[in-house]
Amino acid sequence: MRCLLFVCLLIGSFPSFALDRFQVEGYTLPNGLQLLLKPGTEHGHVAIRLVVGVGLDDFNCADKELPHLLEHLLFSGIDASGEGGLEERMQALGGEWNAYTSNADTTFVIEAPAKNQRKVLDLLLALLTQTRIDDNAINAAKQVVEREDGGHYSHLQRWLDRQDLGHTASNQLAVELGLKCPERAEVDHLTREQLEKVRKDWYAPNNMTLIVVGDLERLLPAYLERAYGALVAIDPTDHLPLPEIKASAAHERNLIHGLVGGGAKLHWLVPEPVQEDQHDETFDVLKDYLDWALYRQLRLAHGLSYGPWAEREVFGGVGFMSLNADLERDDVPEAEHVLDELKAELLKNGLNADTFNRLKQAAIARQAWAVQGNSAMADYYWSALGDYEDGRFTDPAKELRSVTLDEANKAVRELLLQPGYLRIERPLMSYDQLMWTIAGVFGLTVLGFLAWRVHRRTARTT
Ligand SMILES: [Zn+2]
Repeated sequence: MRCLLFVCLLIGSFPSFALDRFQVEGYTLPNGLQLLLKPGTEHGHVAIRLVVGVGLDDFNCADKELPHLLEHLLFSGIDASGEGGLEERMQALGGEWNAYTSNADTTFVIEAPAKNQRKVLDLLLALLTQTRIDDNAINAAKQVVEREDGGHYSHLQRWLDRQDLGHTASNQLAVELGLKCPERAEVDHLTREQLEKVRKDWYAPNNMTLIVVGDLERLLPAYLERAYGALVAIDPTDHLPLPEIKASAAHERNLIHGLVGGGAKLHWLVPEPVQEDQHDETFDVLKDYLDWALYRQLRLAHGLSYGPWAEREVFGGVGFMSLNADLERDDVPEAEHVLDELKAELLKNGLNADTFNRLKQAAIARQAWAVQGNSAMADYYWSALGDYEDGRFTDPAKELRSVTLDEANKAVRELLLQPGYLRIERPLMSYDQLMWTIAGVFGLTVLGFLAWRVHRRTARTT
């Protein structure tokens, strides 16, 4: 109760408090529900995010779509008026909602007028507690999920996936290394019992965080304690461990993408060596540096690629850095050579101090305007939940400022000393090859025809 009073006081005095984006009032209800309330700068609106700690990573390959299917099912209705009736209620409140299932969580995203914030939260609570799952709803949701995943998973697509023809280069490498499922998960075989179990095991207050940013009502904390405080806690289920690299992958591979075309893509992928301090910030700055280095070399100096790029991606428990370029098919060997030279240069001389400082400053400056408005702020808190402690999110600008050139040089050395994985994506044939193939087939047909005529003529004369 004392913390509640404190929150009410804070919300009452919010103009100054609203300015510091990293300071957020957070507390946990007795049932374990974590609340993050932040007065925003825009009036008349609230952004609500309910983050449920269950995602695709919590299930094995065959059942991966379970949390996603359940997320869709929860919108099938809370009474006889069904899915349509539920949506009409939200429309009547002037709000919009959606939900997303990621590897790590399932999140309900709502934008609503401030004056209806409690009614909207009531509706969300009703969705969580009153949705009844029946077979009709399950079948309807299965069709939607299947469509979202790119339509029915045909035998041909499954065959292409097995032949490595259906994946992008980084996904393909993740499959080879055992970090990702080789085939798309299907929904057909998932049962009502499985779905009920996911709901029972994970949809509990002590596995949820409710974020509300915007024009907060004074009585919101008391309302939340009363309404959301009534949810019953459960014994939490442990998350599955994230996959680590289990298999080895070829250093270099060609991947076929499409049938005919003159383009190609080059990817050099490498696991990020884990740094003791500020791993993420160091590699963020390094990514900007490599991005710029690729642009300078492949585009400006050699004119080989219009928009080469560096990228950071996570598969299972492993982070990857990649250097990528879109190329003309014939330019691949030259681009490989330029890339090798670039890597050798960086290994020999390290990062250029001026460039490093300029890009680091740009990354710091970006933080001043990167998150604007209630909705972006709510999304930011959602993405950074792991960094929340004692009423504060860590300030990325501060973290970036403390990345030193020495640390970045150490990281780039460890990164580039690895052989990495080279993947070249290109269509089966170039236009020239297609033309020669057609000409060849045509030529053979003509030859065959002539041979047949000669054969017939000689047969007639003898
Ligand atoms: Zn979906």
